[in-house]
Amino acid sequence: MSIKFDFHCHSDYSDGALEPERLIDYALDREITHLALTDHDSVSGLAEAHKYITENALPIRLINGLEISALTEYGEVHIVGLGIDYQCERLNQALKIQQEKRWERASLIDEKLCKAGISGVLDKCQQDVKQVITRSHIAGVMVKLGYVSDRQQAFKKYIGKQGRIKISKDWVVLDKAISLIHQAGGVAVLAHPTRYPLSNRKLAFLIQDFAQSGGDALELSYPSLNADKISWLKIQLENNQLLASSGSDFHYPDLKWTDLGRFPHIDSNIPHVVEKLIQA
Ligand code: AMP
Ligand code: MN
Ligand code: MN
Ligand code: MN
Repeated sequence: MSIKFDFHCHSDYSDGALEPERLIDYALDREITHLALTDHDSVSGLAEAHKYITENALPIRLINGLEISALTEYGEVHIVGLGIDYQCERLNQALKIQQEKRWERASLIDEKLCKAGISGVLDKCQQDVKQVITRSHIAGVMVKLGYVSDRQQAFKKYIGKQGRIKISKDWVVLDKAISLIHQAGGVAVLAHPTRYPLSNRKLAFLIQDFAQSGGDALELSYPSLNADKISWLKIQLENNQLLASSGSDFHYPDLKWTDLGRFPHIDSNIPHVVEKLIQA
């Protein structure tokens, strides 16, 4: 059997557009055989996706995952966990706290938006959001209410890296995020390393810290990476004896450049998490 995998994507339990069952249908359309669902600070879509696969005997393996927001001395990063026991109590307790912090942050962002003349965002999010609130939802609501023309504008002007509203949150720290994933039996992956606003020098230190804190793998293949960046990341991976991981970070069917199953090809002799995850 030939394998087609994707180890990073989102359902509507966080900021993806599709509910878990529709995400599975979408993956089957793209002939994906192994899919990791990795919602932001949530494992709630996994049981639903498993049930759908089992009841319909669908030809796809679901790998239990999540994407934890974590604090480091280089700022906020995302740690993907793969192959976890999603019923792990410690993990679920920590996720409950992260989810509460996300709503607190949304409320603080809403206060600042109100001061900038943008009102009603939090109310609408409270009606619309299924579980985990993200800045994507806030951006989506700002579009719906007519304050910005698209989500990108909301990030650019207000809630993105260069936007005027900056709220940092005391997310779980890096070591803790990694140990939560390990306690749940999973593999900890530093997600999309080049998307953090860091110089190469600082990014190299972040990757080193991640490895020294027990991290297992580095995303080496995701949309928007070019060959030069992949080569640079591969050196960091080798220096720190990390495995590679690959994923699209799929959120919405209409964003074709991050479509499910789509990411750059990497050399098959690079040690990769796929070897651990597809046998289990
Ligand atoms: P949060 O975890 O709540 O801070 O939200 C982060 C999510 O917002 C990411 O996972 C992306 O889905 C989305 N996002 C972040 N930056 C941008 C951007 N510049 N444009 C569009 N979406 C973004
Ligand atoms: Mn997201
Ligand atoms: Mn992310
Ligand atoms: Mn993601």
